[in-house]
Amino acid sequence: MDLNEVAVDPPNPPWKPLEILSQPEGYLSYYYSDDISPLPVRWVTKPGDNKSDPNLETSTYGLFSTCSSNMRRGVVKYGRPYIFFITNRNGVRVLSGYYHIKWYVEGAFSGGWDFSIAADKVHFVNPPISLVEIDKKFGLTLAKHFRTHKGISHETCCKLRNLLDLYEDSTASYLEEIDRLERFNLQHGEYRYIGWKQKDKFSWEYARQYFKQFFQESSEQVIPQRVKNSNDENQWFCSSCQRVFVNKSLLRRCPNCGELASLQPISKNAGEP
Ligand SMILES: [Zn+2]
Repeated sequence: MDLNEVAVDPPNPPWKPLEILSQPEGYLSYYYSDDISPLPVRWVTKPGDNKSDPNLETSTYGLFSTCSSNMRRGVVKYGRPYIFFITNRNGVRVLSGYYHIKWYVEGAFSGGWDFSIAADKVHFVNPPISLVEIDKKFGLTLAKHFRTHKGISHETCCKLRNLLDLYEDSTASYLEEIDRLERFNLQHGEYRYIGWKQKDKFSWEYARQYFKQFFQESSEQVIPQRVKNSNDENQWFCSSCQRVFVNKSLLRRCPNCGELASLQPISKNAGEP
């Protein structure tokens, strides 16, 4: 099978439909936004750790990065389709948009903890909405600090979704802004994503190489079990090509040989995934 001709976007296989509960629940998901941007897009220019999620180009999360693996697993295991995206703008936590997840696929890291998820509905607003204001309006406590993600009830999901749907969908503006920031990276660091040596934009065409384990005979390589997402030295060793890389977060794909799930932390003092 020629991988270059396979459609890898959902609902094509290997994507599977998410089994969603009758009273669907969800998550607040924190992401780093780019402070050189007027829009709260993900932190594309973050030094040593360019961000690829939430990946609006493909309406996915965790297809290209290893971020928030616990949340992605929760979406799949508990059938929670809503993800509301929270970020910090000038010291204030804001709600910028949401995904409604409809599909999932097992990621390259084995062990039942690594899933990529894809949305059938994406809606981002401009300007984003202050969590303090949302709490006041609905009597909630969403502005209370949490790290990476937090589960929320069906009722809260409905309130946030209805609120965001009142505003025009600005996802197209977010995509233009992501492209602009990537071109900034290209100009200053030769790549759109410097740590993983990626010159291409994210797209379903580009995503094909992330699906090769489903379409090609697997090699003799033993795929490692759960790997920590960060380590003190920010150094990673590729078990396939034996090269060492520096990046803050664990990469899905080796920037040198392109192997999936082949990177291991060098430091023993690995952080929480
Ligand atoms: Zn490699």
